[in-house]
Amino acid sequence: MQTFATISALRSFLAPHRASGHTIGFVPTMGALHEGHLSLVRRAVADCDIAVVSIFVNPTQFGPTEDLARYPRDLEGDSRLCASAGAHARFAPEPREIYPEGFCTWVEQNDATARCLEGEHRPTHFRGVLTVCLKFFNIVQPNRAYFGQKDFQQALLVRRMARQLDLPTEVVTCPIIREADGLAMSSRNRYLDPAARKQAASLSRGLEKARAALAAGERSAAALTALIRAELLAAGPCEIDYIAIADPDTLAPVETVDRSAVALLAVRIATTRLIDNLLLTPPQP
Ligand code: AMP
Repeated sequence: MQTFATISALRSFLAPHRASGHTIGFVPTMGALHEGHLSLVRRAVADCDIAVVSIFVNPTQFGPTEDLARYPRDLEGDSRLCASAGAHARFAPEPREIYPEGFCTWVEQNDATARCLEGEHRPTHFRGVLTVCLKFFNIVQPNRAYFGQKDFQQALLVRRMARQLDLPTEVVTCPIIREADGLAMSSRNRYLDPAARKQAASLSRGLEKARAALAAGERSAAALTALIRAELLAAGPCEIDYIAIADPDTLAPVETVDRSAVALLAVRIATTRLIDNLLLTPPQP
C-alpha cells in the first residue's frame, strides 16, 4: 500500500491507473479504524481495481463544542489495518492541504432532509461533510465511493449531492457492522467506560424491540418510538437528542409504518454521543 499526504502526489499515483481504465473505489474515513470501516475497504477492494482510503479528521464537520481535539487518532495503526484489508493507497492530508488559507467555498443542502435529525442537532455538520466529500471526490475521482448505513442521513445526503451535482461517482451504502451485543461499531465507542459501554447496547436493543413490535403488528410510529425510549431509559441515565421513524428516502416523519421506514436515534451516554438506525419493513398482510 502506498501512502500519500498531498493532493498532487495522490493524483500522480492515480492518473496512470485511470488512463489504463482501472476502476477506482474510495472510502472516506476519519481514522481510528474498526471493522465497520474495514468492511467498506474490503468492499472497495472486491469491487474495484484500486481502493483508496482517506484518513482525515475533518475539522469543518465538528461544531465549536464538539470533540475535534480529543477525536482518536492513530495513523500508524490505521495504515496497518488499511494495508491488511487490501487497500492500494492511503491518503492522510493535513488540514491545511484540504483547507488552504482563505478557503470559503461550501456545499450546503437547504431542505428538511438535511436540516432534520443530525442537521438539527449539529447545524454546521453536513456542510462540512458534503464539502469535504466533494473535495475528496474531485481529488480521487472515484468510480464508486463507499459509505456506511451507520451514518444513514450522511449517506443519503452524499448520494443526493452526487446526483444533483452530476458527479460521475456511484455512492454505495454498506451495512452496519456491530459488536456482539449489537452496539454499532464507532470510533467514538472508545470514549465509553465499562459502565457506559454496557449501557450503550440499549441503542440497538431498543431498535430491535421496535422491529419485533412491528413484526408483531404494531404500526404506530409513536408506539414504536415509545418502546425505544423506554429501552434507552431503562438502561441508565442518558440524554436523547432524537428518536425518529422516518421515510428512508426523505427522512420525513412517518406516523404509521405501512411501508419501509427507518428508525434513527442519537443519544448521549455520559459524555459520548452515539447514533444508530435500523430499517423497518412492515409484515405483509
Ligand atoms: P467515520 O470515520 O466515522 O467518518 O466513518 C467513515 C465511514 O465508515 C462512514 O461512511 C461511516 O458510515 C462508516 N462506518 C462507521 N461505522 C460503521 C459501522 N459500524 N458499520 C459500517 N460502516 C461504518
